[in-house]
Order: sequence, then structure tokens, then C-alpha cells
Amino acid sequence: MTDKLKELFDPDKFKDLGYRIVDLLADYLKNMNEENAPANNWEEPSEQLKYWKNYETGSSPMQLFEDIISRSINIHHPAYMGHQVTAPAPITGLTSMLGAVLNNGMAIYEMGPSATAIEKVVIDELLSKVGFSSKGDGFMTSGGTLANLTALLSARKAMSNTDIWEEGYNENLGVMVSSEAHYCIDRAARIMGFGSKGIVKVPVGESFCMKTELLDEYYKKAEEQGVKIIAVIGSAPSTSTGMYDNFDEIADFCKKKNLWFHVDGAHGGAVIYSKKYKHLVKGMEKADSVVIDGHKMLMTPALLTFLLFKNKNHSYNTFNQNAKYLLENSDEDEWYNSAGRSFECTKKMMSINFYSILKIYGAEVFDDYVTTLYDIGKQFADKVLQRKNFELALLPHSNIVCYRYVHPGLNNIELNILNAKIRNRILKEGKFYIVQTSLNDITYMRNTFMNHRTTIQIMDDLLDEIENIGINETYVDKKKQTG
Ligand SMILES: *Cc1c(COP(=O)(O)O)cnc(C)c1O
Repeated sequence: MTDKLKELFDPDKFKDLGYRIVDLLADYLKNMNEENAPANNWEEPSEQLKYWKNYETGSSPMQLFEDIISRSINIHHPAYMGHQVTAPAPITGLTSMLGAVLNNGMAIYEMGPSATAIEKVVIDELLSKVGFSSKGDGFMTSGGTLANLTALLSARKAMSNTDIWEEGYNENLGVMVSSEAHYCIDRAARIMGFGSKGIVKVPVGESFCMKTELLDEYYKKAEEQGVKIIAVIGSAPSTSTGMYDNFDEIADFCKKKNLWFHVDGAHGGAVIYSKKYKHLVKGMEKADSVVIDGHKMLMTPALLTFLLFKNKNHSYNTFNQNAKYLLENSDEDEWYNSAGRSFECTKKMMSINFYSILKIYGAEVFDDYVTTLYDIGKQFADKVLQRKNFELALLPHSNIVCYRYVHPGLNNIELNILNAKIRNRILKEGKFYIVQTSLNDITYMRNTFMNHRTTIQIMDDLLDEIENIGINETYVDKKKQTG
């Protein structure tokens, strides 16, 4: 053994550094308030790359950790309202470390016995929260994107007339989804070889939810083009606007046409934990499959995703080489060998992250988190409505809120440019972190509230800041025009 290797695996060195890193992270979390930390440390990509390329080998570990922190965005900051990534519960930082050190692979039971059984417990908990009976099943996988693809592969297996797994395609298949769905659905359908004809995008109405009354018409159109629709996908919610589709209506349609009903709840399937907001997913229990991310709204680090099936057979058939097999009773299923069912072979011990919150703090804490964030979304929307220089895109269902700054005398094209400019300035200043989106060709600011500590004061400060930049930019533009 070389000295270097010996040093690398030295438990005492690990212990010494570990204490210091935990101190560093605890200080980091303490600092995450608006006064003394930015929400975002912006640097141009090329500068960022240069920095890490030239980083010295043999650096001190503390320095390396500190440098990574100071060059990252601060998800835990109460003025972070950017992308849909949760502020993970600090305990999950520790369980992640546990999982990383143990590194039990989990493709089959003997590679990760505790994490595998814990996964089963966690899945059963989620199944009951969704409203699936004991006939349901599921597993955990890495990310909503992969989980949605896997669900659609299960749908294909269950709904196609031929055995595609053996024979390849000899029919044109397709799925129907709202035009506002996350792009990974489109990608999944293309990966499966459906082509653009096989991704039927159903328009949304004013509320940005799927116009379910158009399902029949679009289904018929696809049929006329020789496409056999196998599934309808509902969004819980869609990504840009955070609006939930009507699952009762989608379920009715699927029942009538004998289609697979899938719910992409990557972001807001977590609402099953909120007594106040779970009505938003009414009808989701009628779905054949549901995806929920832990790293979006359930306080776990990325990646952690639940893929749940109403009928456990579907969960076992997806990648099954043989013809479809049916499990008669629960003694037969090999729940403990997950590679047979999931896309992944080796996977992280992700179950322990969720389980630690569940067992140490109890499921109510998920309700606290989701409900608080959705309440904050509503409060912010109210604030926007109260201000005369702002326009709310739509009343939010969730913690995602779209709005824009408006200025008298400017048309939509000018306002688009202005809002993009404002958002860019905010990004670079770093005091707040918000993103932007485009809805019907109008550019909106988009906040996703991910921190339960985001206060009314922060909302007011953000809107003041946007307004100040907006006035300033308009003034500069006017000056330029008049010379
Ligand atoms: C984020 C998101 C996804 C993608 O999930 P990842 O975990 O990022 O792969 C899919 N669908 C919706 C609705 C999302 O919000």
C-alpha cells in the first residue's frame, strides 16, 4: 500500500476533517439569512471554468470545501426562489454521507440489505398516501426524468398489442400530454421511438391546465393518422406555471378509452402530505402510475424519486424478457431485488434520506413544509396583485408564481426585453435568486418558493428591487432614444 492510499483511507484523518466540515456546514446554514449572505454567487461560465481548471493539486481540504461553497448558489437562503430544488433537511446531509461511505449498491438485496428493506417501507408509506391499495407497488430511482421514462415503458409494455421487447415495433404508438408538460415527457416518448407524431400535445386553457374537453378530438386525430394512443399524462403540476391538471377528468377519459393514466408529480405530487392542499391531486389515486421527486418538495437531496404503480404487476413487467407474468400473491414478488424492475443497476442508498426524516421527525413535517411553501406562493401572488406596476400571470395553485413588471407606455415586446433585463440584473446582483419563463410569448419572472423562511419582508424587498431596476432601465432607454 502506498503512503498516499494509506492517508486517503485513514479513519482518524477522516474524523478530524469530518468534525471541521460539519462545523463549516452548520455555520453555512446559520449564515443563510438575507443580511450576510447572497442567494446566489454569480460568475460567468468561462470564469468559473478557469478557476477550477487552475486549482492547485494538494490543496487543503477545508479550503477546497470553502471554495466550493462560495462558488455555489445558496438553496437554503430565504431569498432563493429560483429553480425547483428543495432546501434539504440538514439531517439528510448526514444520511447522504452515511450512504456515500457505506455505498451499498442496491441492485440486488445482498448488495444493500438495510437500504432495500427501508425502501420497501418508504414505498408502502407513499402508496398509502397516494391512495393506492395494497395491490400497488413501486421503487425509488434517480430523478423524475428517468422515473417518467420508466413509467411510460411500463405503459408501453401493458398497452401495446405486440411484444415490442421481443419483436420491435410494428405499430405506431403515442401518448397524450398537455402542451405545458415538462420536456422530459416529450423526450421519453422520442427515446421510445414514438417520433413527433406520437407525442400529442393537448392545448391548455387560460389557467394553463390541460383542456380535457379536447382529449377526445386529439385522440381521434391521432387515430386518423394511424397512431395508437396508449397513455395520457397529467402534470402535478406543470413546470412553468405550477398548475395542476384535472385528474378526475383525465381518469374518466382513460377509463373510457382503456388508456394508461400516468401522473407526473415530480414537483407537486408531494402535496399528498398537505392536508390543506391535497385536494389539488384529487383523482390522482385513479392513475396507473405516479412519479414524485423527493428532491423537489420533500426536503431530500438530489436525486430521490418515487415511482409508484397502482397494480404491482406493472412494476415487475417493464423489463421482463418473458411474456407478461402475473403475481398471484405478495409472497412471490421479489421486492428485494430492485434491478429487475428499475432502469438502474447500481443505485444510491436514497431511501435512507427520506426514511430519516420520516422516522426521526414524523410525516407531519412534510405537511408543514409543503403547506408553508404553497401558502407563501399565495401570499406573494397577493403582494403582486396589490402593486400597480406588476401583473400576475395567473393565480397560483402552488409555490410557483409567474408575474411581470409593467410600465405605462411600453408594449409587450418592450416589456419582454425589460423584464429579461431586470431578471438578469437580479441574477448577477445575487441578493435574490429568481428565474424567468415565457407564457404565450410574454416574458414573466418566475419564483419558486423553496424556503419556509421566506418572509413578507423579503417579498416586498424583491418587488421593490424589481421596480427600481425597471424604472431605472426605462429611464436609461428613454435617455438613449432622445440622445
Ligand atoms: C422537475 C420536473 C421533472 C424532471 O425531474 P428531475 O428529477 O429533474 O429529473 C419532470 N416533470 C416535472 C413536472 C418536473 O417539475
